[in-house]
Amino acid sequence: MSGTPTDKSPRPANEAERTGRAEVSNYEIVSHWFDLAAGRLELADDVAAVMKSSYREVQVQIPVKLSDGKIHTFSGFRVQHNGARGPYKGGIRYHPEVDLDEVRALAALMTWKTAIVNVPFGGAKGGVNCPARDLEQSELEAITRSFMDKIEKVLGPTRDIPAPDVNTNAQVMAWMMDEYGKLHGHSPAIVTGKPIALEGSYGREAATGRGVVHMVRSAAEQVDLSLDDCRVAIQGFGNVGSWAARILAEQGCRVVAVQTAEGAIRSDNGLDVGALHQHHTEGGTLEDFEGEGERATDEDFLSTDCEVFIPAALGGMIHKHNADLLTCRMVVEGANSPTTPDADEILAGNDVFVVPDVIANAGGVVVSYFEWVQNLQHFRWDEDAVNHELKTIMKRAYKTVSERAASEEVTLRVAAYEVGVERVVEASRMRGYI
Ligand code: NAD
Repeated sequence: MSGTPTDKSPRPANEAERTGRAEVSNYEIVSHWFDLAAGRLELADDVAAVMKSSYREVQVQIPVKLSDGKIHTFSGFRVQHNGARGPYKGGIRYHPEVDLDEVRALAALMTWKTAIVNVPFGGAKGGVNCPARDLEQSELEAITRSFMDKIEKVLGPTRDIPAPDVNTNAQVMAWMMDEYGKLHGHSPAIVTGKPIALEGSYGREAATGRGVVHMVRSAAEQVDLSLDDCRVAIQGFGNVGSWAARILAEQGCRVVAVQTAEGAIRSDNGLDVGALHQHHTEGGTLEDFEGEGERATDEDFLSTDCEVFIPAALGGMIHKHNADLLTCRMVVEGANSPTTPDADEILAGNDVFVVPDVIANAGGVVVSYFEWVQNLQHFRWDEDAVNHELKTIMKRAYKTVSERAASEEVTLRVAAYEVGVERVVEASRMRGYI
């Protein structure tokens, strides 16, 4: 179970077939879109090099005695990509495949995302290469506290503010805040995505999924798609996927397929996503879910007849070997880097409208910003206020990006990266960094 960190661990070419993930790394995906934007914006090479590389990369050793009585040595990472627009901000991921290359890519993505939605943060990301889903709560707590002890020097409410990501949640954030507080005194603004009982924000847990739904609605309006009884397939049923599914179902859409790491389930009549979520939170699996729905292979899941496809699992899940299977009118990227550049071209060729990650899943960081503001003010907003402000920011970002895409005749992704990179370059110039 001990993690062995590797800087660059290229995936074997046949892994796409075996695991459903692409051989293209997250870093290659994010770099591809940055390079394209830098070229279109005619950034000088030296400026592009500053924008592309990380400001600081920290790697730490996390030895923890697990319930088997042995010490397991995991690796923890925190990458601060760019802080020109404000304190570094980005989630913490627990997954056996986490490595420096992935964290670096996700940190850069946060820089562009915070700039695109125009919240005053830079970009960062962190992670530990532990098999979180196989660990006990006490083991997760030990890993989290040890990780915080080792990275606290580069964090701070005005320096770098972590948040949840894959396999981390409000409980993990509570441990992080508590551990930081032992060294620095009570500091709720050190992390976002905390429990409500510990100065978390109303609406934060649902925020990324809710933001995805705003983007589904904006894009549907643009491509003239009615959302009444519209069929939706969702890959990943964790925080992002399950909230997006439940809100879309509440709003009259039909969630016809769901895939998790365990497999997939489909029903043309629509799945009861509320019951499925309840089943999941009680520790149930797709296999023993008794509600409506038939088991489906990965291939069947991807080729489900639907209008909207929402990837909300891991990076590189839609790639050149499977992009052709998608039958939808639009893909709204809840996950980070779910689509490889090759797959993006295939989708464009098939007339599939794509709302890219850097805008589609920004709802989480927007409400993290609200949580941070509330913590600094020691004042709590009610949930309606949070949701109203979230909607305003998401709609404004979509408008900015879609108008730019229309005027330059490019995709939303190219336009979004241009907006993000341009804003970070401007802030860096004004500070005198470049
Ligand atoms: P999570 O851990 O809550 O859920 C992940 C889901 O993906 C689980 O249902 C898991 O079973 C599924 N999954 C894992 N491997 C899979 C596979 N091979 N095939 C199909 N499903 C698989 O994570 P989350 O917080 O919901 O994050 C999901 C994605 O959204 C990630 O890419 C994350 O970076 C991104 N994201 C999350 C947030 C947030 O606020 N949590 C914000 C922005 C972006």
